Amino acid sequence: LMNYRPNFINHIIDKDLKSKKYTDVRTRFPPEPNGYLHIGHAKAICLNFGIAQYYHGQCNLRIDDTNPEKEHKEYVEGIKYDIQWLGFMWHGDVHYSSDYIEELYNYAIKLIKKGLAYVDELSIDEIKKYRGTLTRSGKNSPCRSRSIKENLIYFSKMRNGEFLEGKACLRAKINMASSSMVMRDPVLYRIKYTPHHRIGKNWCIYPTYDFSHCISDAIEGITHSLCTLEFQENRILYNWILNNIDINTHPAQYEFSRLNLKYIITSKRKLSILVTKNIVDGWDDPRMPTISGLRRRGYTARSIREFCHRIGISKQESQIELSLLESCIRADLNKHAPRLMAVINPMKIVINNLPVGYEEKIEMPNHPNNSDMGVRHVIFSQEIFIDRFDFCEMLNNNKCYKLTLGQEIRLRYAYVIKAESVKKDKNGNIICIYCSYDPFTLHKNPVDGRKISGVIHWVSAARNISAEFRLYDKLFIHPNPSVASNLISNINPKSLIISQGVVEENIIHSYSSGPYQIEREGYFILDHHYSKKSYLVFNRTVTLKESKNH
Ligand code: ATP
Ligand code: MG
Ligand code: MG
Repeated sequence: LMNYRPNFINHIIDKDLKSKKYTDVRTRFPPEPNGYLHIGHAKAICLNFGIAQYYHGQCNLRIDDTNPEKEHKEYVEGIKYDIQWLGFMWHGDVHYSSDYIEELYNYAIKLIKKGLAYVDELSIDEIKKYRGTLTRSGKNSPCRSRSIKENLIYFSKMRNGEFLEGKACLRAKINMASSSMVMRDPVLYRIKYTPHHRIGKNWCIYPTYDFSHCISDAIEGITHSLCTLEFQENRILYNWILNNIDINTHPAQYEFSRLNLKYIITSKRKLSILVTKNIVDGWDDPRMPTISGLRRRGYTARSIREFCHRIGISKQESQIELSLLESCIRADLNKHAPRLMAVINPMKIVINNLPVGYEEKIEMPNHPNNSDMGVRHVIFSQEIFIDRFDFCEMLNNNKCYKLTLGQEIRLRYAYVIKAESVKKDKNGNIICIYCSYDPFTLHKNPVDGRKISGVIHWVSAARNISAEFRLYDKLFIHPNPSVASNLISNINPKSLIISQGVVEENIIHSYSSGPYQIEREGYFILDHHYSKKSYLVFNRTVTLKESKNH
């Protein structure tokens, strides 16, 4: 059982079960295959699959594919993969709205025969104009008074490809003066000649979301159809359609608030702009809020489920802080990620009082608090690398613990060293630091009781693997990029910083691509696209601590 927190929807379901309205619970997750799933979808997935698990019911996966222009098989495969990766499995076979296309067509005929639908030849713009506004009632289309017989003929002409795209559509005949805009003769079918990823050119008329969704729910025997709040107004139409087609099940729609995350876009349409304009490196770019991007970045499924658990489900619209998502992955990786040493900005250290070519194996725990994760051996040698930013020729702030001339510092899990002198190039840049080491300080304090403040990480200069470190930051500078007038101008120019460094040799014997905690630097995972045995590329999942400048 998932870590599932009961919410207002559970109260509704509990009542339905108690009153015997239903004996079992069936939900569905209905993505459109027009892009890869994102963190917002994870919320809907945890809710729908979580409810099914909680009540020992079932959750269907329905690929909602009635928009052939934007839909691709690639996205269907991505959706299936991501749901399973998140730790969920749908009931039985995958369902497709396009499976029901014949059945949906017959229900449309039924509405026509009841005098409840008509073929309209107004253009999309005219339909919009005729629909009126909230304060002004709509106007009937001249086609609205067509006879049932005429409508049946025209609808079959639509199906037979006798109209051009946009030249005819099927509309429900409800009420052009309704106080609810969705009830002003909504469009039920439109013409589309683009071949469909599954059914090819068999059809050229496709049902709209409003027509297909409720009927698909009913066909599958869904009991509780959960969607986001923007469909609240459509609920009245959902029920109108089901009430008028004589179908024997009538699911109920309930709405919850969608996930909005600060600095993050959760719209497949907008995310696809970033992909097609090559602003990111595909749908799974580690900066993308897609499930595949988060995975490539090093997020675990467990941390994403934990995040969904923490935000909960309600009808309250809100903007969640990015730091909440980050704290979920940090907590998870702090517990589970093995430790590793790497230097992202290498600076060479030569230890004067060691012989040239000296090497020593030092044992280190893979996790400081979990001995079950074992130990590894790291080579300490006469020449090592430390991070350039861990050295400062002269310290003006004695609170920051850096290596500095004449001072001592501890090398993590190894010895205490003291900086003696530096070598500079002709521009005055330090290229090497000469140190001495205290041979009696391995895993213990200096015998004379000297206090050593500061511990820095290091990697042997003789035994290491070169690696590239990709340091990510927010993709957008605007906290609400969706409302920003221009998406592209809000791209953070520092969303990716690449640094060349070194990592301890053990990485090549490891079976895991991570994520690892690179001591003092953050959590990192090997990038599965760009890493080669001879050249490793690490993605930074998240820093060790929340940065102060958020
Ligand atoms: P997008 O704008 O990204 O295309 P969508 O709602 O059109 O979103 P669908 O593929 O139709 O995408 O969504 C499948 C399900 O996921 C729907 O039930 C939808 O309500 C839910 N969903 C999508 N985005 C979010 C979100 N940000 N928070 C919660 N649920 C979401
Ligand atoms: Mg949708
Ligand atoms: Mg959409």
